[in-house]
Amino acid sequence: MTATTAESGNLLPLVSGRSRPPRHLADLSRDERRAVATSLGLPAFRADQLARHYFTHHLRADDADLMTDLPASIRPALVEAMLPRLLTPATALDCDGGQTRKTVWRTVDGAKIESVLMRYPQRATVCVSSQAGCGMGCPFCATGQGGLTRNLSTAEIVEQVVDAARTMAARTTAEGGLPGGPGRLSNVVFMGMGEPLANYAALLAALHRLIDPAPDGLGLSARGLTVSTVGLVPAIRRLAGEGLPVTLAVSLHAPDDELRDELVPINTRWPVAEVLAAAWEYARVTGRRVSIEYALIDGVNDSPERADALAALLAGQLAHVNLIPLNPTGGSSWQASAPRGQRVFVERLRARGVAATVRDTRGREIAAACGQLAAEPPVRSRAGR
Ligand code: SAH
Ligand code: SF4
Repeated sequence: MTATTAESGNLLPLVSGRSRPPRHLADLSRDERRAVATSLGLPAFRADQLARHYFTHHLRADDADLMTDLPASIRPALVEAMLPRLLTPATALDCDGGQTRKTVWRTVDGAKIESVLMRYPQRATVCVSSQAGCGMGCPFCATGQGGLTRNLSTAEIVEQVVDAARTMAARTTAEGGLPGGPGRLSNVVFMGMGEPLANYAALLAALHRLIDPAPDGLGLSARGLTVSTVGLVPAIRRLAGEGLPVTLAVSLHAPDDELRDELVPINTRWPVAEVLAAAWEYARVTGRRVSIEYALIDGVNDSPERADALAALLAGQLAHVNLIPLNPTGGSSWQASAPRGQRVFVERLRARGVAATVRDTRGREIAAACGQLAAEPPVRSRAGR
């Protein structure tokens, strides 16, 4: 594992909930970007050129010298108006032979968020944060243990993806790339810090920026994007109606309300049956298979009876179960199920015709795996867990 730090000074103190990051072109639609150019006394197409530099070539304000199709005299004003630095890397940690990189980012108001880039032979996935912290309070999750700081803006979400795309496109490690030469970012999963559907407007705009072709966005395939939710039913139904065939992942973790109330406290508002009804509606409308996320917690939710109950809920539906051996977190003493327990659980699901896989947990040693993203170690302890 290697660590690098590039901490910037002069950060504003964090004012929770009140500060808004500065305007960035990734926050804006094409018309809004053009209006900014016009307000600077420039032709509207200058905004498109700037956007292309950002979305296609992943250039930052520091790279303005490379924007040679923009007259040098107008670059500073354009860049200042639409390419502020929103995220500064505080720490970058590599593991898995350099194929996994976790970056801790500091926002302009001092909040910390994280993203994780994972390179595989056939694809590259970045796991991004949608909020600084999370207010959903799932007790097994490091982010939940720390509470919510604030929603991220659209551009703060997009910036994490653009950074990953830049890293993948870099020719050498000296230029910031991962070992193995240049590649292409193919997948984005909203499984970092935060509950994406609790930050709906910013999430939706970010999805458009990721999917729209240049100069309006990165041009990623919607099928490569996964939004993971704790189960906010009205927002799942709303997302189904947006006409974006992104994959929905539902964090279920228990087939029964009694246990799910404990593991996923928002279940008291939207119980299992309602969450799954919304998930099946999502699958019907989009034609996309829904991922059911299930962290296997030793002696808590991993009994064969619960596997059978889960299978009964999912049989015949357009669904796939992702079993995640629990990643340990500081605020809970729960452990992952033993390998045998994992095998039995997955076999019982499969025996009942339910597709299921045990997810590989990249990045565990650098606390970059699911549920370990906390940025700051939580100070609270949970007695008895
Ligand atoms: N808030 C969203 C997305 C972020 S969490 C959600 O809950 O779906 C991403 C995934 O990591 C979720 O499936 C979540 O349940 C899972 N997760 C959280 N803590 C975990 C842990 N300690 N071990 C394994 N998975 C965990
Ligand atoms: Fe929030 Fe998801 Fe963690 Fe629950 S599992 S606390 S919803 S980030």
